[in-house]
Amino acid sequence: IDWSDIIMKIKKIGVMGGTFNPIHIGHLMIAEQSRKKFNLDKVIFIPTGSPPHKDERKLANSLDRYIMTILATSNNNNFIVSDIETNRDGTSYTVDTLELLSKKYNDSELFFITGADSILDIENWRDTDRLLNICTFIAATRPGYNVDNVMDEIKKLEEKYNKKISYLTIAPIDISSTQIRKRIFKNETIKYMTPDPVINYIYNKNLYK
Ligand code: ATP
Ligand code: MG
Repeated sequence: IDWSDIIMKIKKIGVMGGTFNPIHIGHLMIAEQSRKKFNLDKVIFIPTGSPPHKDERKLANSLDRYIMTILATSNNNNFIVSDIETNRDGTSYTVDTLELLSKKYNDSELFFITGADSILDIENWRDTDRLLNICTFIAATRPGYNVDNVMDEIKKLEEKYNKKISYLTIAPIDISSTQIRKRIFKNETIKYMTPDPVINYIYNKNLYK
């Protein structure tokens, strides 16, 4: 898939990376609210390939996660889904993906949208320094992560890497993909936790059972 036609004239691009195993309304809400707050022209959702930090056995295959991401975002014209990572064999590092995107869209400013847990983990990611300087990170609040602690950590990162990190305060959405997988396994309803087309896909393909 070649996005260059669509993105040619874009000035600010949000990148929403995640395992999306499965995608849920937490992801959709932080992406949309970031788009509005930071005037992003588009948000590109990028499901990860085989991330180095996840247990393969619990991971639905790349194609299923990619399709669910398309199903969840298809009613939003400002959302795009990229197969840049799911299409590639093996491990994908965020810094490599952003490197590719920044070369391809060199007239655009990149914003990487994350939740609080990801920003606290950022020093464990490959090439943190390059990562923080190739794009502007947006850190959204997330239930279970104390706002003051997160703010302190952000300040430290800003000083250490000499780069501003943006902040998004969002109404708490206490939903995770882990929680959704567990609920499916226990035959509990997941309605309204993720859009209906995603739920139908999960049931049709018998995922997370
Ligand atoms: P899992 O439980 O499998 O780790 P997850 O719900 O954390 O799934 P990920 O795909 O790991 O989802 O997360 C992708 C990005 O979205 C991360 O930066 C994460 O912090 C953020 N995110 C996920 N859920 C929320 C939420 N409810 N509120 C704020 N940010 C979230
Ligand atoms: Mg997670």
